[in-house]
Amino acid sequence: MNSARILIVVDDQTAAVPLQSELIQAGHQVVSVVDNASECIGCVRDSVVDMVIVDIVRADVSGCFDVITGLRQFSDVAVVYLTGHDSDEFIRQAEVTRPITYLRRPYSPRELDFLIRMTLETTRRHESLQRSKEEAEADLWYQATFDNITGLPTRSLLHDRLNQIVGKSQRQNRQYVLMVIGLDNFKRVNESYGAAVGDEVLFEVGQRISDVVRIGDTVARLHADVFAVLMELEESNQYVINSIAEKILKELALPMDVAGDEIMLTASCGISMYPQDSTQSEVLLNNAESAMFQAKSEDVQNVYRYYSQQMTMLAYDSMKMESELRRALARLEFELYYQPQIDIVDNRMIGAEALIRWRHPERGLLLPGEFIELAEESGLIIPIGAWVLRQACHQLKIWQDQNLPLQRLSINISNVQFGDKELIHNIRSIIEDTGCNPNLLEFEITESCLMASLTDSARRLQILRDLGAGVVVDDFGTGYSSLSYLKQLPISKLKIDRSFVQDVPEDENDAAIVRAIIAMSEGLGLEVIAEGIETEQQLEFFRAERCRQVQGFLFARPMNTESFEGFARQTLLRAIK
Ligand code: C2E
Ligand code: MG
Ligand code: MG
Repeated sequence: MNSARILIVVDDQTAAVPLQSELIQAGHQVVSVVDNASECIGCVRDSVVDMVIVDIVRADVSGCFDVITGLRQFSDVAVVYLTGHDSDEFIRQAEVTRPITYLRRPYSPRELDFLIRMTLETTRRHESLQRSKEEAEADLWYQATFDNITGLPTRSLLHDRLNQIVGKSQRQNRQYVLMVIGLDNFKRVNESYGAAVGDEVLFEVGQRISDVVRIGDTVARLHADVFAVLMELEESNQYVINSIAEKILKELALPMDVAGDEIMLTASCGISMYPQDSTQSEVLLNNAESAMFQAKSEDVQNVYRYYSQQMTMLAYDSMKMESELRRALARLEFELYYQPQIDIVDNRMIGAEALIRWRHPERGLLLPGEFIELAEESGLIIPIGAWVLRQACHQLKIWQDQNLPLQRLSINISNVQFGDKELIHNIRSIIEDTGCNPNLLEFEITESCLMASLTDSARRLQILRDLGAGVVVDDFGTGYSSLSYLKQLPISKLKIDRSFVQDVPEDENDAAIVRAIIAMSEGLGLEVIAEGIETEQQLEFFRAERCRQVQGFLFARPMNTESFEGFARQTLLRAIK
C-alpha cells in the first residue's frame, strides 16, 4: 500500500540510474524514465502513476519546467522536484507548475522515501475526499430527483424531462401526453395501517403504473398520493391514450394485499396533451392536475378526464360506444344491407356489395361511418368482420339455392382485418361451413391497405384468387398507387372512388383521372366499376368512357335482404327506376 508508482522525468538520462535504484530499494515501482513532454504525458495517460519525480541535474531548468507545464494540461498528478537549485527565480518558476514540494540536494535516501510516502498519503487522502464529495453530491442529486419511497423520479425531475422534451419536440414535431394520477382513498390507508404500510402501498402503486407503460416513459411521484406519467406518442391516436389511462386505472383498482388485509384503491386520472394543451411544462402539469381534480369530483370512480373538454367528450363517447359495440356483437344488433351493381350495357344487375348496418336499440339504424373507425381502433373489427363474412356467405348460399340472378357478392375487408393472420383461415372455413360458391365472392380491399405491405398483400390475395374469389381495389384513386405495384398484385377489379365520380363530367381534372383509371384497367386486363353514380349525367359520362359496371343511388340504395331480393327479381331495370 505504501509503495508508490513513480514516473521519473530527467534532464540527463545518466543521472537517473542512481535515483532509480534508490527508489526500487525503498520498495517503490519506477513506471518509466522519460526526458520529454510527449513521453511524460503518454506515460501518465497510459499507466497508473502516483507521482512524477523530476530530477533536475543541469543548470538550465527550463527544459524540465516545460515538460511539467505540458503535463499540467492533462493531469493533476503529484509532482516532486529533486534539485540543487534554491533561488527565488527557481521557486517562482516551479510554483507555476503546481508541484507538491521540492527536495534539495544533497538529501538522504530516508528523506526522499519519507517525502514520497507523505506525498502518496496526501494524494490518496485527497482522492478519497474527492470521491466522497462526489458521492455526497450524487446522493443529494438522487434525493432531490428520485423519491425515496417509490424510487420514482420526483416532480423536479419530471419537470426537467418536460423542459427537455418541450425544447426538443418543438423542432421535431413530436407529441406527448401527460397523465396525472391521484389516489382517492389513500389517506384512509395511512390512518388505518400507519405510515410504513402506506409507504408500501405507494411503492406498489408506482410499480403497477410502471408495468402498464413502456420502458422509455417517465413515471413520477409528484407528491403524497399523486403520480404522473409522461409518454411520447407515435401518433395522436386518442383511442390509444384512452386505453392506456383505462389500463392504469384498472391495474390500480385490483385488490392489494396490505398487512394481511385486502384493500381496494380507486384513482382519478387527468390528461393533458403536448402541444395541443400547452407547450410549457408547468402549464401542462397544472392542466393535467386540474383535469385530475375534475375526474375526482365526479360521482363515478376510476375515471379519467382530459384537460380539454372536447377531448373528454370524445373519450366518453368512444368508451361508451366501445362497450355498446361489444354488446351489439353479443346481441347480434348488426345487419347486412346489399347495394346492387349494374351492367349498363346489358341493363341488368350483375352483383351486389354487402354493407354493414348497426340497429342500435336507442339510436336507430347506424351507418358504418359512425362505428367502423372505432371498431378498427379497438380491434373489434376482427369479430365484427368475421360476422359479416359468415352472414354474407350464408346469405349468398340461400340466394344460390333460390337461383337469384346474382353473379357476384362483394364483401368489404377492413385494413385491420386484412392484417389479421387468421383471415384466410377464417374465410376458408366460412366458405366450407356455409357451402357458398367462392367463385361468386369478391373481396373489397382498400388501396392504402394493399400499399402497406406489397409482398404480403400479394401472397394473401393470391390465396383468395386461388379459392376462386375476385379481389377489388376499393376507393381506387385515393391511395397514390403506381402502375408497377398494380401489376404485382393478383387483383381482378378496380373500383373508382366516389370522390372522383361525384363531380364528373363538369370537373375536368376528375374526368381526366377517371379516364386514366379506365385506360389503366383496360391495359392491365382488369375489370373496372364506378361507385356513387347519382345522376344521369354521371351515368352518361361512364357509358361514353366505356365503363360498364356501376353502383350508385341512381339505380338503388343499399337495401335489406327482403328489398334486395325484390329488386333482383325484377329483370328489367327500367321497370324499377
Ligand atoms: P365503400 O366500401 O366504399 O362502400 C360504398 C359506400 O358508398 C356505401 O356507404 C354506400 O352506401 C355508399 N354509396 C353507394 N352509392 C352511393 C351514391 O350514389 N351516393 C352516395 N352518396 N353514396 C353511395 P356505407 O354503406 O355507409 O359504407 C361506408 C363504408 O363503410 C364503406 O365504403 C366501407 O368502407 C365501410 N363498410 C361498409 N360495410 C362494411 C363491412 O361490412 N366491413 C367493413 N370492414 N367495412 C364496411
Ligand atoms: Mg366497398
Ligand atoms: Mg369505396
